[in-house]
Amino acid sequence: MADTLTRQERSRRMASVRHHGTTPELQVRRLLHSAGLRFRLVSERLPVKPDIVLPRWKTVVLVHGCFWHGHCCPLFRLPGTNTKWWKNKIDTNIARDRRSVERLLEEGWRVVTVWQCALKGTTRLGAEELQTLLLKSIRGSAPAVEVSGRLASTRVR
Ligand SMILES: [Zn+2]
Repeated sequence: MADTLTRQERSRRMASVRHHGTTPELQVRRLLHSAGLRFRLVSERLPVKPDIVLPRWKTVVLVHGCFWHGHCCPLFRLPGTNTKWWKNKIDTNIARDRRSVERLLEEGWRVVTVWQCALKGTTRLGAEELQTLLLKSIRGSAPAVEVSGRLASTRVR
């Protein structure tokens, strides 16, 4: 019995380690890297700090958590307590994101925003589908592209 518990405990710990090593940014970096795309993680000449910079395509990739960045998707739910405070906080984040994208576009960068719901949960896209979408967005000509998950239901805040 004690052994079983230990094993469970160990596997729980390992699962949490695995989870730690697969942040959304890391997932996107791996997909781009395996497609042969070269990128940087920082560029001091940019007005904001994006997650991934692809100088060759003059494109930056932002990987957004759906909660903190207020995505209208199944992963976002305004907390039931301190709701007003949270709404204010998330709205501030949304406004800041909007300004960041505008500044990047003004400086001639293209912006690809990857939402967390494309990477996790029931709305997650398949790895191949996601990679194809990312490559198309990065090499394409649209100034700003958003990659979202398959939305099971659209939540309107
Ligand atoms: Zn989302």
